[in-house]
Amino acid sequence: MSTELRFDAVVLGGGLLGCFVARHLTSYHLRCALVEAREDVCTGISRGNSAIVYTGCDNKPGTLKARLCTRANRNFGDLCAQLGVPFQRRGSLLVSYGPRGDEVVRRKYRQGQETGVEGLAILTGAQAQALEPGLAPGISSALLAPGTGVTDPWALCFAAYENAVANGCQAYLNAPVTALARAGSDWLVTAGAHTIRARAVVNCCGLNAHRVQELCAPPSIRVIPDRADYLVLDQPAGPFVRHVIFQEPEEKGKGLTLVPTADGKLLLGPSEQPGGEKADRAVTPEGLDFLRRGAARVVPNLDLGQTIRAFGATRPNPFYVRREGESWVAEDRGIHSFAIETPHPGLWSLIGIKTPGLTCADALGELLAGEAAAYLGKDTPNPAFNPCRTPPPRPRDMALPERRALVAAHPAYGRVICRCKDVTEGEILEAIRRGAVTLDGVKRRVGTGLGRCQGSWCTHRVLELLCRELGCSPWDVTQDGPGSPLLEGERHDL
Ligand SMILES: Cc1cc2nc3c(=O)[nH]c(=O)nc-3n(C[C@H](O)[C@H](O)[C@H](O)COP(=O)(O)OP(=O)(O)OC[C@H]3O[C@@H](n4cnc5c(N)ncnc54)[C@H](O)[C@@H]3O)c2cc1C
Repeated sequence: MSTELRFDAVVLGGGLLGCFVARHLTSYHLRCALVEAREDVCTGISRGNSAIVYTGCDNKPGTLKARLCTRANRNFGDLCAQLGVPFQRRGSLLVSYGPRGDEVVRRKYRQGQETGVEGLAILTGAQAQALEPGLAPGISSALLAPGTGVTDPWALCFAAYENAVANGCQAYLNAPVTALARAGSDWLVTAGAHTIRARAVVNCCGLNAHRVQELCAPPSIRVIPDRADYLVLDQPAGPFVRHVIFQEPEEKGKGLTLVPTADGKLLLGPSEQPGGEKADRAVTPEGLDFLRRGAARVVPNLDLGQTIRAFGATRPNPFYVRREGESWVAEDRGIHSFAIETPHPGLWSLIGIKTPGLTCADALGELLAGEAAAYLGKDTPNPAFNPCRTPPPRPRDMALPERRALVAAHPAYGRVICRCKDVTEGEILEAIRRGAVTLDGVKRRVGTGLGRCQGSWCTHRVLELLCRELGCSPWDVTQDGPGSPLLEGERHDL
């Protein structure tokens, strides 16, 4: 029987939203915890997205989504400076090649004006082409949004998590929530081996958020996932476009998005593929085909031979549900804003938070933490709260004298392990110290295996370091958690 742990507030789920809610809870004078089902944070939806910091002009004016997005976009530079996370305000072009797209350009311009997005301008085709000569000729109009940015979603999630923990949030990993029940005015959360008692619970369980809420409330919104595919092109292709490009298609459906990423690559995607109940992270041939055909139309001179990786992501589409006989069916009405469910006092559920959830993670975290603190009557600020986090050292970004000094003090920062991305042993050891326990946990923190060779050179070295630091056997290390073993065969074969 586990001992009951007591907190004022507990956050369920360690994706972008959970980590930012936890970060903001620590800014109040209260005791909080975060529980995560997996061995690490940032393994869910937050793991695979487009990394775009949106301006808010895509969202219906007057909605919480539009308001938070516009505010979050303005504050994103300051947030990333506090947390030591990359951010570049590259601007975006929404390009149209016909009357249907032109109407969307005008609508998003009006929406943005109404919401207060700064600097929007409708450009002629010639003006857009002059800004982005790599785009196919024939652009009829384009919406320029100078405020659009790109960030590193992994770095952002880890930074929020580390900042929350540094400010006193207690984290429990490998702790899937399996029960959530009322106990007087408290909640009792069963999470892995732990029983946690808290007066406020914020459910940020991503694709599982509706299931967790249904542990204590009838269904209201459910997530029906679909799939998204991406192609990653190596750094020589990165400068092919300078802005984030959204192509608005003439036919119904999604156009192509091109994102020059914060680390200098080019991201194509996402596609939109049906996923059904069991959407997973495998790429779909249809989705990749859609991206390649889109690229041939929109950026015909882009060298797709620079593709170094394809990956799949999962969209958490939220739908209201109603009862029909014994089952619950999805209703055919859209959810235009963020769905924040409050089925009982002291319980908040963020269900199906799609784009721009990354942009708004900090703003949503602030909102939810504020509501929980007010509910608890503990909304006095924590005087010890420090919003800043010291990022890990990155020798490749340092000037030579600084790098020399670091290597002199810590020789592991002088040993390069990942040659494509210039990642050193010191960085990998620091990533493990900060919580990485899988190959992808290291990758997401320091970028090993993200370069042209995709880990052919460094995988076994990272594996060795993981085994040495964690004191485990190579058979116990996984690529990305349960069900992704790195080694096969009998243990004595090694
Ligand atoms: C394809 C795609 C592209 C996107 N692009 C952008 C973009 O460019 N810009 C933008 O602003 N937004 C974007 N978004 C949206 C953004 O990525 C999401 O809104 C955000 O990552 C959602 O984070 P989350 O914390 O809700 O979910 P997750 O990251 O999935 O976190 C949920 C966590 O809960 C844990 N969990 C699940 N069940 C349990 C349980 N029972 N007990 C304990 N823990 C549990 C999971 O393991 C997971 O770690 C995109 C989304 C998608 C899908």
